[in-house]
Amino acid sequence: MIDHPEALIIRPPSEWRSLLVRITRGCNWNRCRFCGIYPAMGQPDFSRRTLDEIKHDIDLLIRLHPGAETAFFGDADPLAAGQDTFIGAAHYLREVSEIQRLTCYARASTLHKLGPENIRLLAEAGLNRVHLGLESGDPEILQFHRKGQSPEMVVTVARWLKEVGIEISYYVLLGLGGRDKSEQHITGTARIINETEPEFVRLRRLWLYGAGSEGECPLMQQVRDGSFIEQTPEGTVFEVRQLLELLEPLDTFFACDHANNYINVSGLLKEDREDMLREIDDFLALPEEQRQAHYTRVGSRI
Ligand code: SF4
Repeated sequence: MIDHPEALIIRPPSEWRSLLVRITRGCNWNRCRFCGIYPAMGQPDFSRRTLDEIKHDIDLLIRLHPGAETAFFGDADPLAAGQDTFIGAAHYLREVSEIQRLTCYARASTLHKLGPENIRLLAEAGLNRVHLGLESGDPEILQFHRKGQSPEMVVTVARWLKEVGIEISYYVLLGLGGRDKSEQHITGTARIINETEPEFVRLRRLWLYGAGSEGECPLMQQVRDGSFIEQTPEGTVFEVRQLLELLEPLDTFFACDHANNYINVSGLLKEDREDMLREIDDFLALPEEQRQAHYTRVGSRI
């Protein structure tokens, strides 16, 4: 067997100190128009790793990072590994390490297929939190982007997760409705967040990478044929503002914790919403030239 652990392609920024355990390779779905990131990063196919391979990696990771207190399971859809593999890996990790938190990426549709009883087993195996791509709470936008989930599906799985104490961290993609459906995107997204009160909402900005290259973002095709009109940088800042205005004072941590975001506010909705709105308004009150210079400065990266 090889003597270094397989690396994940992507991890949430908040998991930078975690043991990064590869349960599956790539994405089992790979159809979202706005994504295509696994093929673009050299992992076009999905595959499952064996429990023995995963245990071997866990041993290596613990040796490499003896002080780690948290762990994260990837790639995009590790729950598609099958319950025996996922739960076997979680049990093994808990047995041989001192980690206090285990999280993973999870697709709403995969959780939906598992159902409440299997989700309970995940909680019993020590899964504490899922990083779930809500992207948008609007059904039409989700369908256009071929996300393979409906808002109602997310509401259902969120309820099952809450019932067993697994925390939820949503990812929302600013600009996903384009310029035409921005309001619809934000209104639908606020509705799902208010209805499900996740522990975290993390904002990302839609990034149309690699235009013209072989590995470009699949959505570029719709940009070229005119069926998707990209949101402006300032439009995404307005989207953050509108979302905050529509959200209730929830016990939810709201964060723009990615370098691609044009505005970077964070805080607990029930305590810090007004401060975040004020920060956005202060930014929007800057002279036009200064705002445009800021948009130009902010880079785009994975
Ligand atoms: S957004 Fe997630 S589910 Fe969709 S293709 Fe990308 S990795 Fe797969």
